[in-house]
Amino acid sequence: MIENALPTIRQRVVQLYSNLTATHCLLCGAIDKGSCLCVACINQLPKLENSCPRCASPVSHNLLCGSCLQHPPEQNSSVSLFVYASPIDRLIADFKYHDMLFLSHFFAEQMVEQLKYRPLPQLLIPIPLHPRRLRERGYNQSLELAKQLSKQLSIAVCSKSLIRIKDSQPQTSLPYKEREKNIQRAFKVVNTMLPTHIALIDDVLTTGHTANSAAKTLRQAGVINIEVWTIARTIRQD
Ligand SMILES: [Zn+2]
Ligand SMILES: [Zn+2]
Repeated sequence: MIENALPTIRQRVVQLYSNLTATHCLLCGAIDKGSCLCVACINQLPKLENSCPRCASPVSHNLLCGSCLQHPPEQNSSVSLFVYASPIDRLIADFKYHDMLFLSHFFAEQMVEQLKYRPLPQLLIPIPLHPRRLRERGYNQSLELAKQLSKQLSIAVCSKSLIRIKDSQPQTSLPYKEREKNIQRAFKVVNTMLPTHIALIDDVLTTGHTANSAAKTLRQAGVINIEVWTIARTIRQD
């Protein structure tokens, strides 16, 4: 399968370099043992405090937000660790576009702290990329994150159950209003033996249209409890 393709030489060099320099904090350069960020920088990351349990939007008391009360999304719950703001946005861009795959370990480690007290799903499913985008990028960041979460939480991961059948434009290149249409019917389930409780894994939850579309496809395939786990949540300004 394409997802299991060997890493490119460029990715290997970046990985090797990152292993050598992993004792220096990526943000402030301080020497730190065993992590890519020092404790002081980790403590200053923009944590998402109270959030809507269904869509992870910031709310004051961990209750359902107004939007979910009126138009609940397909997923039953959402967990997002950070607000998509500096310096998380930069770290995610490095992870996603600049081959810094070692960040998947760090992000998973941070997410696990929040996830380990919840009833855990039976399977992790990364949001898939279309094969053309996967060829361009060389890896799927959501799968890399899911693999790390799988290791740390001892939950199976499957990247072959849900595939992307529509080569839609990147959601970030479109105005908010056009994103829902762009991602409709973009996914297909190819494994009908799915468990009843799964978590979809992605890097950022923005409008939620991608997760919603994927969750809808899984729901139609019989999955009952669908969670969406992301590193960061975009806070809509408009
Ligand atoms: Zn630091
Ligand atoms: Zn909500």
